[in-house]
Amino acid sequence: MQPVCGRFAPTPSGRIHLGNILCAMLSWLSVRSVGGRYLLRIEDLDAMRCPRSLADLIEDDLHWFGIDWDDGGSAGGEQWYQSNRSGLYDICYQQLEEQDLLYPCFCSRAELHAAQAPHRSDGTYVYAGTCRSLTPEQIAEKRKRRPPATRVKVPDRVVSFTDGCQGQYTENLAKDCGDFIIRRSDGVYGYQLAVVADDAAMGVTEVVRGRDLLESTPRQLYLYEKLGLQAPVFYHIPLLTAPDGRRLSKRDGDLDLGVLREKLGRPEPIIGMLAAAIGLRSTAQPVTLQELAADFSWDKVPKEDVALPEEILRKA
Ligand code: GLU
Repeated sequence: MQPVCGRFAPTPSGRIHLGNILCAMLSWLSVRSVGGRYLLRIEDLDAMRCPRSLADLIEDDLHWFGIDWDDGGSAGGEQWYQSNRSGLYDICYQQLEEQDLLYPCFCSRAELHAAQAPHRSDGTYVYAGTCRSLTPEQIAEKRKRRPPATRVKVPDRVVSFTDGCQGQYTENLAKDCGDFIIRRSDGVYGYQLAVVADDAAMGVTEVVRGRDLLESTPRQLYLYEKLGLQAPVFYHIPLLTAPDGRRLSKRDGDLDLGVLREKLGRPEPIIGMLAAAIGLRSTAQPVTLQELAADFSWDKVPKEDVALPEEILRKA
């Protein structure tokens, strides 16, 4: 059997917050508790929004928190930053193109909004297929006016998989998702293609990430299949909410690691409160990641979102 390999794949568009650190913690515990390998990949596809300084700050926060990795990040070199990996994405793009799965899409944001019904929690829409059957002449004409994005055609087919945390998840690719973008009109590759290409190339066997990305997974499984790559197993973890169940926001106190580091001085109290919130410990006593790794099990982690207790917000 392939050795277990997990990763943390942050997008460095801001300082790491409690939700991100919970994801790092669970992905690290999941592999370290079984002696697996752990990687850090920086998802800075949108290089303008993701300066290197923020990526460096994420590494610093992770080190402080006690998360270590076997490869990746700045010590691993430039190939661990998605902004430097477009050569690999080009190859995958080519493979999809050879299977006649791609087409240019000229729809503007305004046109998309007007044509589609709101759909997903991530704000994306089921694409109506407007550009799917343009003739070569129409494409040539439209290209003169604006550069197109690229979409992948999806079939009218049900994709089903068992998530290690959420259980069975099923979706009809055409009805629930629609043809999706893999390269933006400015040439930047989309998350769906990059994450699949990278996880496969890096030998990742398990992906742990927020429940908000569950809906992306059928699209990614479709790409794995079409690219002839082995898909990892997935664990979509609960999101953290305010005590009344609302999504956490700035109003609930600044829960980024900058503030928490300053206020608490050491990671064990934060690890302890997250461990209690997520069911790994019965009380919020300070604890180390190593102590949690000793008896970690996914059976303890709930699938529903987790409300942070009032005292945590007051402390922060
Ligand atoms: N880069 C994504 C994020 O920060 C995570 C992607 C993934 O884990 O698949 O939300």
